Amino acid sequence: MKRMLNEAPNFREEMIGGYVAAYSNILRRVPGASGVIANSAPAPGKVGVVVGGGSGHYPAFYGLVGDGLASAAAIGDIFTSPSGEQCYRVAKAADGGAGVLFTFGNYSGDVMNFGMAETRLIAEGIPAKTVLVTDDVLSAKPEEADRRRGIGGGFFVFKTAGASATRGDSLDTVAELTERANRRVRTAGIAFGGATIPGQPDPLFTVPDGMMEVGLGIHGEPGIRVEEHRPASDIARMLVDVLLAEAPRDAGSEVAILVNGLGGTKYEEMFVLYSGIAPLLEKQGFRVHDAQVGEFVTALDTAGCSLSIFWLDDELKTLLDATAKSPAFTRIGPDVAVAASAIGKANAVATQLHAAVEDFTEAIMGEAAAETPGGVAGLAARQALAHAQAAVAAIEQELGRLDAMAGDGDHGAGMVRGLKAANDELGDLPLFGGTARQAFTRGGTAFQNAAGGASGALVGAFLIALGSALPAIDDEVKADSYARAIANGLATIQKLGGAQAGDKTMVDTLAPFVAALQQASERTGDIAQAWREALPAAEAGMQATSEMVSKRGRASRLGERSKGFPDPGATSMYEILKAFGRAFDAKQGQ
Ligand code: ADP
Ligand code: MG
Repeated sequence: MKRMLNEAPNFREEMIGGYVAAYSNILRRVPGASGVIANSAPAPGKVGVVVGGGSGHYPAFYGLVGDGLASAAAIGDIFTSPSGEQCYRVAKAADGGAGVLFTFGNYSGDVMNFGMAETRLIAEGIPAKTVLVTDDVLSAKPEEADRRRGIGGGFFVFKTAGASATRGDSLDTVAELTERANRRVRTAGIAFGGATIPGQPDPLFTVPDGMMEVGLGIHGEPGIRVEEHRPASDIARMLVDVLLAEAPRDAGSEVAILVNGLGGTKYEEMFVLYSGIAPLLEKQGFRVHDAQVGEFVTALDTAGCSLSIFWLDDELKTLLDATAKSPAFTRIGPDVAVAASAIGKANAVATQLHAAVEDFTEAIMGEAAAETPGGVAGLAARQALAHAQAAVAAIEQELGRLDAMAGDGDHGAGMVRGLKAANDELGDLPLFGGTARQAFTRGGTAFQNAAGGASGALVGAFLIALGSALPAIDDEVKADSYARAIANGLATIQKLGGAQAGDKTMVDTLAPFVAALQQASERTGDIAQAWREALPAAEAGMQATSEMVSKRGRASRLGERSKGFPDPGATSMYEILKAFGRAFDAKQGQ
């Protein structure tokens, strides 16, 4: 696949550079962060609306930064959530004194990383709230609507947030209206072919001849099911039926419509699709107040599209009609009046995951960076991270391939980026003078800031939690300290991500390893020996993920289609544990 590309790792930076250069009349770069902010932001006394996520989705999310829309966007690597640090810097720049509303798609990587930013703002006294976009009806059943992911319909949610903030509504009101918009938008989509990541030879998935994927993801995830390809009018009927069956309870008959192209579908084809949709809605008694046909959330060059229905009420209609100007969407409408709405109900979207992120972020904010001279344990820990980087880099492609089976193919790249940052942070091996505790907490923080995605947040948190449970003095680090520390790492992953053993995640490698290490460290005080004895349990746990159905993360939306291959996160975790073991062994031999 030929792409406009220099070096693949520089793609995001160069893309942001060109974007900011082209639209400097509307927005600028956030200094020191991979994000952009509207020239009109921060607006004194107004709520800052922060959107974001991985890149590869243009015009989501940064194409919607401007007047009357989002104030700022944090931009991750392709299909990868920006790190907590990046989200924090962008949000901080967007605060005009009335607080920050975060709104983005419900993906665990984004939830964790933006969640950390939100917690840090609140700790600094800046009010902040989050509204997750959950419009994809095909990604989870109605009983589990809050687990649904965010796709094309996010446009209406962001437009609502931006208009509400622009008219000067309070943070509570902006959050309430944004959440209301999300509750009233539903999306369903189909795909004919997968996207190819710049620098990669093959698409993330292919669709067999004569077939189409139903229930598309926007990160190259395959669809929820495969069906026979049909004419546009049949697809129109199927999408309309799926969405109307999910109409919100207090729906009403006035709607806005979005036909969203995924990047590889022509506008003309979408108009053909809409020619089938409009009469169906009319026949069912709907009045289409506003229809948008075009690209709003893409997934690189994915061939496919989605239909969103947004059930309006008077207030949502006012906000949708309001003037907006951004590189990707401009509307001349009535200027919204200064806040009058008095909807005081608190934003209820904070999920359990979100609460856990809060606890964790508060805990690590206190971790001091003080230098304590290290000993043998510090050197072994430093070596462990160096070995882990080499081991994961050796299977980077394979991890990407596993992740592409049910996810977005970025796991190998993200893990290598994180481990490289951790090792860069700690400097040259012979010069490293810190303790084991410092190696893991500092390395983990650097990992978390660089890796992005779900695994960036989780593996970063794991390393930090592991480190912070080790003794402050290297001489006190024994086999049982590692058993406790790694158990703390596992507990943190589970608290943040909510995964149990059997959910097909990195927890399936780690949980049996923690139990085995605990037992082994009761038998021997030798770390290397205990680690060696515990590794087979980790390997068995990793292998068992092949037969599991994913219950967490991106892959969980695919149900039975996530079966038949090992989980990428479980695989990389096993490589990391093995690499740590080699470092402890080497120390032993000295
Ligand atoms: P992303 O899903 O954001 O693209 P990666 O591809 O880097 O992130 O990582 C995917 C891996 O992360 C999965 O294979 C799984 O092991 C792990 N993972 C995802 N969500 C969770 C979770 N909630 N709890 C534990 N592990 C998770
Ligand atoms: Mg991934």
